[in-house]
Amino acid sequence: MQLILASNNAKKLKELQSLLGPLGLTLVNQGALGIPEAPEPHITFVENALTKARHAAQLGQGAAIADDSGLCVRALGGLPGVRSARYAQDAGRHPEGVPRELADAANNALLMETMLGQHDRHAHFTCVLVAVRHALDPEPLIAEGHWAGELLDTPRGHEGFGYDPLLWLPDHGCSAADMTATQKNAISHRALACRRMRELLAVHWGLHT
Ligand code: IMP
Repeated sequence: MQLILASNNAKKLKELQSLLGPLGLTLVNQGALGIPEAPEPHITFVENALTKARHAAQLGQGAAIADDSGLCVRALGGLPGVRSARYAQDAGRHPEGVPRELADAANNALLMETMLGQHDRHAHFTCVLVAVRHALDPEPLIAEGHWAGELLDTPRGHEGFGYDPLLWLPDHGCSAADMTATQKNAISHRALACRRMRELLAVHWGLHT
């Protein structure tokens, strides 16, 4: 069975294909079917992921899966949340469209500044995956994964991307950016959401290995 991935990210396709392939699913990026990206106007991960999945299912005329992810900081009431990628841009620190590395560095700088003197350093990455059988599916499958740690006051590590250098993982004695991609992909918020989605697909769509 084909499943349209509401993303054009080749890495995401590879990661999800390896986890969901054993269920008999073949993932295809929406771009390969000529489907443009959907807007992400909502304030919750689940609404954005659902919007993207429905959009891809409608234009691709088939089952679709989408994800939305970000960093949620307890002392900031869960922000930057769905605005994680655009945290510094929203604050007017840089224009739209700067290279990803610059945006990541500006986001991390703003977060460190915002957290100065804050004692509650708890934060977690969230990933929400949503799958629909068709655009009008009244029962979307929703899988969530969290990966928690403590925010550092200076970046650490050179792997990964985004906020990885700021998330200290006490159980591992390192930051998320100190981990290799293989280590991270085994335990991250995305890995947990993928595993949960696999269970849901087995129970609700009857897909088994
Ligand atoms: P997206 O859902 O992949 O577009 O990610 C949204 C944003 O959340 C990214 O641009 C990062 O700022 C942040 N983010 C999501 N997952 C991670 C992660 O694994 N490490 C670091 N930052 C992440």
